[in-house]
Amino acid sequence: MSSAIRRTWRSLVQIYNLLCARDDAAARGFTVPSGVWACERCHEPHLELATYTYHLRTDHA
Ligand SMILES: [Zn+2]
Repeated sequence: MSSAIRRTWRSLVQIYNLLCARDDAAARGFTVPSGVWACERCHEPHLELATYTYHLRTDHA
């Protein structure tokens, strides 16, 4: 797999994880209003997508 494809794949996986985090929170009974992101790994809520992606990069790298 070329590095370009690998980068694209990683970004797709990250988008998938973001969507699943919201579904996961809903499945566990958390209310996740639009604009709030719940981390799928530690269930920490984030008010902005930017802080959530930063959290993923730093705490779950
Ligand atoms: Zn987390």
